[in-house]
Amino acid sequence: MTGLRPLLCGVELGGSKCVCLIGTGADDIAARITVPTTSDPNATLGRIEEVLRTWKTVYGAFGAIGIASFGPLDLRANSVTYGHITATVKPGWNGTDVVGRLARKLGVPIGFNTDVNSAALAEGRWGSARGLKDFAYITVGTGVGVGLVVGGKAVFGCNHTELGHIRIARQPLDVWPGVCHFHGDCVEGLASGPAIAARAGIAAEEIPDESPMWELVAHALAQLLHTLVLATAPQCILVGGGVIQARPQLLMHMRRLLIESLNGYLDLEALVGAMDRYIVPPGLGPLAGPLGALAIAADAYADARAAT
Ligand code: ZN
Repeated sequence: MTGLRPLLCGVELGGSKCVCLIGTGADDIAARITVPTTSDPNATLGRIEEVLRTWKTVYGAFGAIGIASFGPLDLRANSVTYGHITATVKPGWNGTDVVGRLARKLGVPIGFNTDVNSAALAEGRWGSARGLKDFAYITVGTGVGVGLVVGGKAVFGCNHTELGHIRIARQPLDVWPGVCHFHGDCVEGLASGPAIAARAGIAAEEIPDESPMWELVAHALAQLLHTLVLATAPQCILVGGGVIQARPQLLMHMRRLLIESLNGYLDLEALVGAMDRYIVPPGLGPLAGPLGALAIAADAYADARAAT
């Protein structure tokens, strides 16, 4: 405990590595350790438990753990498989009980959410969406993930949302089938890093800036923005991830294509101000993932306190 702030642990379970943090907030990280994600969840989670136990000895008891995980996940509180990773394509991890195992071993409140929802909540707490209650966070990399925050909470209904897989209006004459195993030409199937490489036939980083490919990528992402704007009227939309970091000019094209796509149906700039302050990069950079885990630890701690 530092002052009135509880000591928290965050664990970002990623496809290739897991990042563990301990601290009281983004401005106070005491330690950070990375553990490789292997195809053996028992071994990987066992190593994470060792890290957390060691930290407990060194820093003292912590108030909650947040786990921000690759998905899909079962987040239904009354489900017998709550806290499990469900139908993941990652070898070995299908059906892994993450929350139950760590709760049994560590005995503190555990927050659990998708990596992208958690990163969105971290951006709302400490990053580019600080102070906002209604915003979206999009990451464009190996996949396309969307954390949609409404009323200060990541949208949750029968389960978490999967807006990277929405279908969109294609550009006229563009009939390339896309690469999503489930939908072909959903947003992820058209605009993720693997989709871009598959369409170009070369690695995404080798495609010249002036290639018409980027207009197609920006179009798919602008269609996602169109849906988000009309569905929940976010106050701000953060767009990051490896593809955007490598081609930041995509943001400029996405702003233009969003206005074109809305086609005067609503005057977005009158509602939200200049587009370059509406469609913006995230503020936490590569720390958004692990800080996302810390953000949901903070929420789990607050929920546990409110329940007592
Ligand atoms: Zn899809």
